[in-house]
Amino acid sequence: MPARSGAEFLAGLRDGREVWLDGERVADVTTHPLLGRCAHTVAGLYDLQHDAALGPKLTYPSPTSGDPVGLSFIEPRSRDDLVRRREMFKAWADYSGGMLGRSPDYMNTILAGCAMAAAYFARGSAAYAERIVAYYEWFRERDLCATHTFGTFRPNRVRSEAQQEDPTVPLHIVGESAEGLVVSGARNMATLGPFADEMLVFPAPMKLQAGDADRYALAFAVPMATPGMRLLCRESFDLGRPTADHPLASRYEEMDCVVIFHEVVVPWERVFLKGDTELCNGLFRQTHAFDHGIHQFLVKDWAKAEFILGVASLVAEAIGRTEVPTYQQMLGEIVDAVETLRAYVLAAEAEAIQDAAGYCVPNPSILSTGRNYLRRLYPRLIEILQIIGSSGLMATPTAADMANPALAADVEKYYQSATLMGRDRVRLFRLAWDLACSSFGGREVLYERFFAGDPATLLANRFLTYDRRAAVARVQDLLARSDGTARPSVGAHATTDGARR
Ligand SMILES: Cc1cc2nc3c(=O)[nH]c(=O)nc-3n(C[C@H](O)[C@H](O)[C@H](O)COP(=O)(O)OP(=O)(O)OC[C@H]3O[C@@H](n4cnc5c(N)ncnc54)[C@H](O)[C@@H]3O)c2cc1C
Repeated sequence: MPARSGAEFLAGLRDGREVWLDGERVADVTTHPLLGRCAHTVAGLYDLQHDAALGPKLTYPSPTSGDPVGLSFIEPRSRDDLVRRREMFKAWADYSGGMLGRSPDYMNTILAGCAMAAAYFARGSAAYAERIVAYYEWFRERDLCATHTFGTFRPNRVRSEAQQEDPTVPLHIVGESAEGLVVSGARNMATLGPFADEMLVFPAPMKLQAGDADRYALAFAVPMATPGMRLLCRESFDLGRPTADHPLASRYEEMDCVVIFHEVVVPWERVFLKGDTELCNGLFRQTHAFDHGIHQFLVKDWAKAEFILGVASLVAEAIGRTEVPTYQQMLGEIVDAVETLRAYVLAAEAEAIQDAAGYCVPNPSILSTGRNYLRRLYPRLIEILQIIGSSGLMATPTAADMANPALAADVEKYYQSATLMGRDRVRLFRLAWDLACSSFGGREVLYERFFAGDPATLLANRFLTYDRRAAVARVQDLLARSDGTARPSVGAHATTDGARR
């Protein structure tokens, strides 16, 4: 089946899945008042694949069927493939201003990365390697959408899974049957869960479980409508209000869920790793599967920074703040964020490496540094938007206020700015408010801090795993020369050829 349309995507979501929101089971996520609008936003991404001008740039011929399939599924063999894939990422990310953090291309790319790392799965069993490749191809040909959960659910955050007071809370293996592996317990989090076709449960890329029992070591996939698997949504930030009132939440509420498994049977052909802690821990450390995912989200980060720059520029211009050097400097910080993210992406592609199987991987070391960048900077970008918008972000009447003839003239007159009349200023400032002040905006800050993993551990890992030998040797060389004469040392630069994070 070629790349899907939005209507085909939406039809796939009506499958009896068990999604709970605010104490009620959701009958149909595509029509639910607080979930349905995002389902249709995601459907719009699939429709772009059929756009006459854009479609050919978002797809490539399937290696098995020849049909056009999504470019995020490609197994890159060259830099040119990476560039094509990045252009596809950018087109999808621009569609939502980067607000859909878990657009389907993220997991498509990681799944392709797992298939490219089949040799790693084969270390556990030849069957695992065959299954992951078969699953990837099956998934690609159907153009499916996955949610994922890499993080285990640990009530006590300093204890491992096995050391929890109730060690059956984190997802674990309960037993085996002829049909498959039986699992119970909880996983955290599954963003996009209500809008996915498949749930991918993989080991955390960075959380070691040393000393844990192997029953927590797992990698598998199940369809969303699997009996015994339920998704508990957090409160929705799409309140069902007019799009003019909540311009972002009404479109991009991708939803975060806790996933609970009650003796779920995972068919054997969908079990990719099992019961081997060491192998699970190494999956995203010793392969490049996750690196391909970082390539995707760095492009999303870039698009998001551009979107913030657009909003902040318009707000500043509307109230005359672009004339003031202090605000110009803050806007310059956002410009630098955009350009830094663009530079990470382009540099990682320019210094791409070839993996052992001959696939082309954006430079892992550059990706790892880029991965940490927006995590630290995003709160500052939002702070800048708050400072520029200031109390104007609260002078934001609703669509109902503006529709009321008793108020309309007042809004038009008294809410005007230096360059915009009242209605237009309010429309712009409600967008800025949804980005910088609303529940949706607060979730974006939390998301950007954590979605790529615990930022503190990631930074520490940069130091621990980075090849610093050349840098250290140069300093030692200087120290060793008692006369202090400057002389260049040999092998004088730190590696950039894919040092692990
Ligand atoms: C909005 C949102 C959406 C998400 N979506 C997904 C998803 O779709 N799929 C998925 O798999 N995951 C998802 N995640 C989870 C994300 O991967 C995790 O939040 C991330 O891995 C960090 O783990 P944690 O939240 O358990 O934080 P923790 O690991 O508990 O860290 C919390 C804080 O404690 C600090 N800390 C931790 N350990 C120590 C220590 N030993 N010493 C000192 N400080 C320490 C950390 O540095 C950090 O600042 C999402 C998270 C958010 C917030």
